[in-house]
Amino acid sequence: APPLEAVDVHKRYPGPAGGTLEVLRGISLTVEAGEAVAIIGASGAGKSTLLHIIGALDLPTEGDVRLGGTSIAGLAPTELAAVRNRHVGFVFQFHHLLKEFTALENVMMPRLIAGGRPADERAVARGLLAAVGLESRVDHKPTEMSGGEQQRVAVARALANDPLLLLADEPSGNLDHHTSQALHDLLFDIREQRGTSMVLVTHNLELADRADRVLHLTEGGLESA
Ligand code: ADP
Ligand code: ADP
Repeated sequence: APPLEAVDVHKRYPGPAGGTLEVLRGISLTVEAGEAVAIIGASGAGKSTLLHIIGALDLPTEGDVRLGGTSIAGLAPTELAAVRNRHVGFVFQFHHLLKEFTALENVMMPRLIAGGRPADERAVARGLLAAVGLESRVDHKPTEMSGGEQQRVAVARALANDPLLLLADEPSGNLDHHTSQALHDLLFDIREQRGTSMVLVTHNLELADRADRVLHLTEGGLESA
């Protein structure tokens, strides 16, 4: 099965004056193994909503998402979390690292939560931090690192459970131009080396241009851009 299949996804929110706001109006999207897809669109178009649904952070109002062939429609929150943790890694604009913990501990966390043994997971996390070029920063806390380094830790953490799909929401939105380019290089190196599929929500056209496909989210639908 492909890493991601979204089938006729609709999302409605309660709208103003008791009405309904239909943000996604029947979106279908298949992402193949190793494919990188960029999603662009105006602010408020529904990009974050779509990313949350394809990442099993939220359920569609109608339609379905299959991650590695596993359907999320109708799943209870704990089941949804299990599918998400097995198949998806997230990188957000702001890193969401735990401030009290070192880079190593932050990267270990997903696998410890999944039931891994600390001794094993320490070694795995070291490997992941080395893979993002941060072997010299394993014992640093987030506040002791630059913005670019923090995002690299977030990428290492996103890879901890060896996801089929990496989802990124403005991953370089908070970085200067040079640091952004280095982060984009890292993401595409990972895709090259691990074959991880990627869906990138971004306003950054340099990043979007590197994807295999660019899709424009507008009026609740996806169009080729
Ligand atoms: P984008 O990421 O493209 O800026 P969003 O997905 O954040 O767009 O939001 C799309 C629309 O849905 C916006 O009008 C936003 O206000 C609305 N929206 C998003 N989440 C919710 C929610 N939980 N409840 C109600 N409206 C929401
Ligand atoms: P980001 O820019 O970090 O992607 P957003 O501002 O798009 O984040 O949304 C952050 C969270 O707030 C999301 O979970 C989204 O569903 C929620 N949200 C966005 N707009 C609204 C809204 N109008 N009402 C309620 N929740 C919203």
